[in-house]
Amino acid sequence: MKSVLFPGDGTTVLEDVPEPTPGPGEVVVKIRASGMCGSDLHFYHGNFDFDHSVIQGHEPCGEIYAIGEGVAPTAATVGDRVMIHHYFGCSMCRRCRAGWPQMCETGQGKTMAVHANGGHAPFAVVPVTSILPLPSELSFKAGAAIGCGTGTAWGAIKRLGGVGDTVSVVIGQGPVGLSATMFASSMGATVIGVDIDATRLERAKHFGADVVVNSREESLFDVVSDYTGGRLADVVMETSGRATKDAFSVLGTFGRACFSGLPGDVEFTTQAVYKKQWTVMTSWTMSSIEQARCADFVVSHNLPVDDLYSHRWTIDQAAEAYEWFDRQDAGKGVFEFD
Ligand SMILES: [Zn+2]
Ligand SMILES: [Zn+2]
Repeated sequence: MKSVLFPGDGTTVLEDVPEPTPGPGEVVVKIRASGMCGSDLHFYHGNFDFDHSVIQGHEPCGEIYAIGEGVAPTAATVGDRVMIHHYFGCSMCRRCRAGWPQMCETGQGKTMAVHANGGHAPFAVVPVTSILPLPSELSFKAGAAIGCGTGTAWGAIKRLGGVGDTVSVVIGQGPVGLSATMFASSMGATVIGVDIDATRLERAKHFGADVVVNSREESLFDVVSDYTGGRLADVVMETSGRATKDAFSVLGTFGRACFSGLPGDVEFTTQAVYKKQWTVMTSWTMSSIEQARCADFVVSHNLPVDDLYSHRWTIDQAAEAYEWFDRQDAGKGVFEFD
């Protein structure tokens, strides 16, 4: 089967890989949609360590195609529509049991497209413990987005303890930032969306931003200060990994800041800010339980997750797709399979 690999030098390779068969406790998922996530670009350029022989794509979504030994009939049936939580842990330690296999206490956890084959291929084999039902109301590409980019925004809001009735500044309006804008707006926050690209800012309005700021052309501090009568923001979500100083510059008293973008150095001097009573946190995607809740919220609020995608590609177009995505000036892409 044709599969996308990254040599790590800013190119893609289409490699013919044998179709997987499920081992004990595993299922094979026929991939229907595999999203392109901003973090792909760190691996595309070789900035992060990863196994160059694994298939890329950590936002897969599809249907159960084959079931391995030992999988309970109640756990999976051929044809089930499933999302995948793209981290594989031991399933037994406290972190795994809490839905956080990415922090598996054994230290042996695996991430799709980093240590284990991902979804940029017609089929993927995964532990049955990693699958989650895809609600019938959601498309496969919505399930793919919820599997990382959109779920990362959801996870950040959960880490923040909610954002309703706040003025929330969302820095970066890529796939994660747009999702954060969408969720925060639907939860009742007033959202100030920030980016340096006009197209992305237009999209931010579509996803519910009340105010948009091109921080290359105008002072973010001035806009937020004017809008809030000098009180500044209750919440800042930094999704770009590049604007941590901007994040603190607009964070008001008792403000909460959540950093989900990488790499990003976060620095502040306690003496300069301790009277501001800030809460500062990081957030790493979401637990498998929150992935399911995120999907439920998207359904119950009828949120336009499909609209996050500006481009759809076939697997044969992988090189062109990643060259496009690498420009970081457009929306989100997805590989779709029949
Ligand atoms: Zn574990
Ligand atoms: Zn991702």
